[in-house]
Amino acid sequence: MKYPVFDNHVHLQRSGRFADAADEFMRKGGSAMLLVNLPPEGNPCSPDFFETMYSEAEKIRNEIAERTGLTVLLAVGPYPVTLIEMAEKEGLPAAEEKMTAGVELAASHVLDGKADAIGEVGRPHFPVSQDIMEASNRIMAECMRRAREVSCAVVLHTEDPHPSMMTRIAELADTAGMDRGRVVKHHCTDLITAEENSGIFPSVKATRELVRSSAAKGARFMMETDYIDDPIRPGAVLGIGTVPKRTKELIESGLFDEDIAWKIHDDNPSSVYGADRLTARRSGN
Ligand SMILES: [Zn+2]
Repeated sequence: MKYPVFDNHVHLQRSGRFADAADEFMRKGGSAMLLVNLPPEGNPCSPDFFETMYSEAEKIRNEIAERTGLTVLLAVGPYPVTLIEMAEKEGLPAAEEKMTAGVELAASHVLDGKADAIGEVGRPHFPVSQDIMEASNRIMAECMRRAREVSCAVVLHTEDPHPSMMTRIAELADTAGMDRGRVVKHHCTDLITAEENSGIFPSVKATRELVRSSAAKGARFMMETDYIDDPIRPGAVLGIGTVPKRTKELIESGLFDEDIAWKIHDDNPSSVYGADRLTARRSGN
């Protein structure tokens, strides 16, 4: 391999392009990804909601890895917005309890080797009532505690990042006993220095502008598309070929060399998710 290319946030759906999207990623130079589960249609309050979601994600991961030979890490966990849907049906206390049980179940999937990280979890990305926000913060803290227990990373979905909010998240991680460097801010901007992110690990949205300004500051970041594989708008966020394309552009423009590509696409995911997990998935386990 010339250099690896890791997309740190990909969704795949059977009703979307699914394996074709993974094939395209590979054809364009991709070698590894973090696959993130998506909440299924249906009542989120049904008792087997999270088990169905996580085990379907595991099946997808296994199918994609087998078909393509890509290294596919998997993150499972209760999607933050699900709390609101549950609260509308059953009230907030019951919803919080179910989300917390969903976190515990996600940790047990990691412990059993079915998944590699807890994500995407956190809090809604749009303004919500204070009680929803407080419950979300408690659930996020629980994610960090469980992740510490099973020694895995947490992938956070939150409002758009800024330095003071990253500091507050870093403090939450400290309280939970969680390594800040294994808390990943999904949908991050170019906040890649320690002063900007307080040690939280940035997963930079792979637009040309953000990736270039990140690369100009250093190499402690990962790149992501947040490809959603929506059947109607497959690349609504960014297309599946974007991370390989950006990496190539950066190398060609001289902002990157292949050593930096190895750091971003191999060393960084290894330190965040665990070198042992990456190696295990690489050999197709
Ligand atoms: Zn996502």
